[in-house]
Amino acid sequence: MQKGKINVQTENIFPIIKKFLYSDHEIFLRELISNAVDATQKIKTLVSVGEYKKDLGDLSIEVKLDPKAKTLTVSDKGIGMTEEELDKYINQIAFSSAEEWIAKYKDKSKGEVIGHFGLGFYSSFMVAKKVEIHTYSYQEGANPVKWECEGTPEFAISETKKKKRGTDVILHIADDSSEFLEEQRILNLLKKYCKFLPVEIIFGTEKETKKEKDKDGKEKEVTVEKPRIINNTEPAWTQKPADLKDEDYKAFYRELYPMTFEEPLFHIHLNVDYPFNLTGILYFPKVKHNLEVQKDKIQLYCNQVFVTDSVEGIVPDFLTLLHGVLDSPDIPLNVSRSFLQSDSNVKKISGHITKKVADKLEELFKNNREDFEKKWDDIKIFIQYGMVSDEKFRERAKKFCLLKNVDGKYFTFEEYRNHISKNQTDKDKKVVHIYSTNPEEQHSFVEGAKERGYDVLWMDTPIDSHFINMLESELENVSFVRVDAEVLDKLIKKDEEIPSKLSDKEKEQIKKDFEKCVDKEKFNVSFENLSEDDMPVTITEPEFMRRMKEMSSLGGMNYMGNFPETHNLVINTNHPVIDRIAKEKEESKKENIINQLTDLAMLSKNLLKGEKLTSFIKRSVDLF
Ligand code: ADP
Repeated sequence: MQKGKINVQTENIFPIIKKFLYSDHEIFLRELISNAVDATQKIKTLVSVGEYKKDLGDLSIEVKLDPKAKTLTVSDKGIGMTEEELDKYINQIAFSSAEEWIAKYKDKSKGEVIGHFGLGFYSSFMVAKKVEIHTYSYQEGANPVKWECEGTPEFAISETKKKKRGTDVILHIADDSSEFLEEQRILNLLKKYCKFLPVEIIFGTEKETKKEKDKDGKEKEVTVEKPRIINNTEPAWTQKPADLKDEDYKAFYRELYPMTFEEPLFHIHLNVDYPFNLTGILYFPKVKHNLEVQKDKIQLYCNQVFVTDSVEGIVPDFLTLLHGVLDSPDIPLNVSRSFLQSDSNVKKISGHITKKVADKLEELFKNNREDFEKKWDDIKIFIQYGMVSDEKFRERAKKFCLLKNVDGKYFTFEEYRNHISKNQTDKDKKVVHIYSTNPEEQHSFVEGAKERGYDVLWMDTPIDSHFINMLESELENVSFVRVDAEVLDKLIKKDEEIPSKLSDKEKEQIKKDFEKCVDKEKFNVSFENLSEDDMPVTITEPEFMRRMKEMSSLGGMNYMGNFPETHNLVINTNHPVIDRIAKEKEESKKENIINQLTDLAMLSKNLLKGEKLTSFIKRSVDLF
């Protein structure tokens, strides 16, 4: 037996590992299995370059639990280690053999060695009080060796009887980590980290019921025990796009999200090998209104090992609404988020993904506009979010971003400008885009606009106010106004102006009468010369104020503070009932009419609530 000291500077390295290495102790299993996968990939490479000529046999990796002995074992049939290698790779932990390996075989092994996770093997001391390695190298003349260490810098190497090529790592689980002796816990961990590893991982057995015919040809059900295989070794993203059908992509989506029943709208298969390595499949889900619940569905892998499902900082924020997987050995994984954001590889990757997503959308738009329009409502919020937050994406998306009007027709920005500019250009030569956030609630306003021959857009996403702001600064000479924000005739002046039937004196009196009945703080009373068929009183809410309010409630503009609730109360000088008010002598009758008209205007803007609504109903019934 050989005893010695592990090559560490600090005597107390193990408590440090245990406490500080990773906040998540569970990742030790990912590390050990990654090593086992590496060792297996290495033996395959040796065969392919002719350095190992024996039969490889079964290469599956096995994870075993022994609750009685309180051990957890990871066994592989990979290259194993000689005594020398054990000493070098395990005892001198500062030295990462992965570097040496990659330098030697980098052209032949397709860079499949994981060796990326920092303190790999030693993370097992986060959960184990003692660790044994039994290993038998593939090399001619090597002897099987055993290494053990009890969580101090002392280790022991001795002979062992291991007969088969490969390595068993046996963890004697510490008392405070007994959760890792529970089958379900380990099963969940394996499903989390190992679901798509390239080498079969076996954990225990599972029952399978099959139909079999007995001697007499009768069919019966038989239950058999078979090894439980955790992973799909060839997940869709590792395959060639040409070999996959739409059905395969959908099946993989279900594999990724077994709890999601909705099908994705379409997918993008990423495959880059220069200037960085990246593979993956991104899916476009139907994007719901609540963006937050939608985020963080993308899973990040490093050579098929699950790393995280929080890709914030790695892909632009709006892309976190997508689903799917990204796999890259070039993303530094054990570093802080702020480091990630400034890493040049990460920036390139993120720029590349953005470009690919824009390419795909443009292709869908160009190749099948009809289908693109069908999907539009489900993806528009995503595109808007991208355009608001990412300059590069914005430039690209201007070509395929659509506007939808309340009649369900779709237009590109350019098409829409052509559609409305003749009829909706104001005196400052701005093309006025009129929109409704809810054609049901704003029905009377929408109808009013249509009667005037205006087109009304339908803009109902929670980020539309940001989106509109962005468009006003990006598109030349356009303005956006909600259908109930202004009296439209005031905004877009018609050629012939309608004169007022009221004299200035009458106006002054009527204004006073109205101000007596409504809250002066909340309503600005003004006049507009509209047609006799227009409503006598209209309540509007200035565009700017409303938009600011919406944006501040969406977050990001909290410093704006609280906004006062102000509305404009616009009186139509030409409506007969206004003329009646002007002529009415009896004060109470006059008040009654004013209240009724104001309430009606409030009602068509959904502002009439509570006590006001009740007294309006009473007053209306009294009319009969
Ligand atoms: P890393 O994997 O990052 O190099 P580790 O501490 O996990 O760091 O492992 C150190 C080295 O020990 C590995 O690079 C490898 O050479 C060797 N090693 C670890 N586990 C195994 C194994 N199961 N089979 C063969 N070699 C192994």
